[in-house]
Amino acid sequence: MTGNSRWANTEEDAVLEAKLKKEKEEKKRLKAEKAAKAEQERQHAAAEAVRQRESQVLQQQEEEESDRPSVKRRRLTPEREGDGADDTENVKLLRFEATGWVPSRSVEKYDKLNDIEEGAYGWVARAKEIKTGKVVALKRLKLDHDESMRTGLPETGLREIQILKDCSHKNIVKLQEVVVGEDTSRIENIFLVLEFVEHDLKSILEDMPEPFLASEVKSLLLQLASGVTYLHEHWILHRDLKTSNLLLNNRGRLKIADFGMARYVGDPAPKLTQLVVTLWYRAPELLLGTKTYGAPIDMWSVGCIFAEVLTREPLLPGKNEVDALTKIFELCGIPTDESWPGFRRLPNARTLRLPSKNAPASTGSAIRARFPLLTAAGSALLSGLLSLNPDARPTAREMLQHAYFLQDPKPKHEAMFPTFPSKAGQERRRRHDTPNAPGRGQAAALGAVDFSGIFTGRDKEERGGGFSLRMV
Ligand code: ADP
Repeated sequence: MTGNSRWANTEEDAVLEAKLKKEKEEKKRLKAEKAAKAEQERQHAAAEAVRQRESQVLQQQEEEESDRPSVKRRRLTPEREGDGADDTENVKLLRFEATGWVPSRSVEKYDKLNDIEEGAYGWVARAKEIKTGKVVALKRLKLDHDESMRTGLPETGLREIQILKDCSHKNIVKLQEVVVGEDTSRIENIFLVLEFVEHDLKSILEDMPEPFLASEVKSLLLQLASGVTYLHEHWILHRDLKTSNLLLNNRGRLKIADFGMARYVGDPAPKLTQLVVTLWYRAPELLLGTKTYGAPIDMWSVGCIFAEVLTREPLLPGKNEVDALTKIFELCGIPTDESWPGFRRLPNARTLRLPSKNAPASTGSAIRARFPLLTAAGSALLSGLLSLNPDARPTAREMLQHAYFLQDPKPKHEAMFPTFPSKAGQERRRRHDTPNAPGRGQAAALGAVDFSGIFTGRDKEERGGGFSLRMV
């Protein structure tokens, strides 16, 4: 036989060889099958873990918020009908990813330097880590009175920890660690250790003699949009964006702070409470009582912040929900079925009587008139952010690419930013007179307000053809 060796294969050898070959192939096949199965199992386990995490978050959010009475403060645990005797039964724990148990360090490792903010709703101080000399901000976890009366848990604070722990972005304040005081059984003895940031935008705006330059406004807005893009792309809604929650360090870097109202959202959006966002920054869909909302509520607040950074005055300082809505419609026009399809179905819109004639002009022209120094691109962006229809607002990522930022003057580089004297570094800040988010002690009056008197013709006449409101 050609090709056979000197040790010519016998027929027997050939059979044996074929058998070995077959066995080898079989082994190979089994190995491949096993590997495929293992990979399938791995993928299945990963998908299951993701699904479980998502459904936990969704279930938690739906259970916690769907049936909440609208006039009360935010409740993060399900409501119990009846005697309210033992509410702890219903407590759901927030889940933290276990990365191994590490005991919290003591707050004694820090020396307090000065109070930054001490008010009815919270305490923040500048402090120094004794070992390293590093300066930090210590924020005491707040005990939400209503929550704690029922459950003893500061869930707002726990959520703030959970979300800050998950965030890593240059425009979001960094949580360094969580420390505890001596009596760990008391919630007020849990502190967040945050990177120290010298200023908050609200104080700067109040104190600066001249407004920000256009290049500085652009830099601040780009940084804000960048942080908000990160949040929204990680399924986080901040739900309390306002100038006092935006910090600015001495190197011109803006950091979004105060995640006490923030939370994860699922897709499709779960029902969430509409009692969020400080009134002056609250989107019209929330004022109209929407049950479902998403990232556009933060973009509305970004629009309010944009205007405030330009003028150093809050844009829509409503005295109550009706006044807030009146101010919004004065600036942005009356919604129509074309400009905001479906708005009439929102709970509080049903009782709203809107003028059919002589309605104010559309958003664009009123905004251009109020901000005459803003370029066409700038007022287009501002008008877009302040669209009554949430779907018409740009996303944070779209905002980053807006023509406004490409035109001269270009955004100022952070390093070129002016510096300001730091109140936080030296002395106690006076409390801002900005209202708080509803969960922060402001009696949320939604549901107690009747919108039916708004914009009636008679009221309009009394106010010289302007807008009007009536609380019932
Ligand atoms: P609250 O939940 O009580 O509103 P915030 O997180 O908004 O608490 O903090 C209140 C104030 O404390 C802020 O407006 C800011 O002035 C100051 N502050 C908060 N975090 C820091 C920080 N990391 N560095 C410096 N000041 C801070």
